[in-house]
Amino acid sequence: MQTEFRSALKKSGLRVTPHRIALTHALATAHSPKTADELHARIKNADLVTIYRNLQNLVAANLIHEVRFKDGKVRYELARDDHHHHLVCTGCGTVDELEGCGATGLESKVLTQSQNFASVDEHSLEFFGTCKGCALNKH
Ligand SMILES: [Zn+2]
Ligand SMILES: [Zn+2]
Ligand SMILES: [Zn+2]
Repeated sequence: MQTEFRSALKKSGLRVTPHRIALTHALATAHSPKTADELHARIKNADLVTIYRNLQNLVAANLIHEVRFKDGKVRYELARDDHHHHLVCTGCGTVDELEGCGATGLESKVLTQSQNFASVDEHSLEFFGTCKGCALNKH
């Protein structure tokens, strides 16, 4: 797995550093998007400034993506081949990774409603709800 990150970093032109390897490894094993603070807690011997800088490098190299939920925090996840969305519990913050997009056709539909835009290039679409655990606790 580590060799995989190594070659991905190399391919994107980024210098392979133990810290960048640690960051991508932490994101790969995380199962849901993580904030810089959460990554900071997982990675020893790295200050937050360095983590932010490396996260920006990795975003610029398209190895990781930024994800934003309603709390205004920026979260990060590994860029995978599949574009997808998330389902977030408003009670406890549990995140489900959804498969695929399901919004195919929406971008062109949106574009027909606009007089001012020449193209829609991407979208960000997250879903919010109550997980089963939180639903049980409410009753
Ligand atoms: Zn919940
Ligand atoms: Zn995801
Ligand atoms: Zn989508």
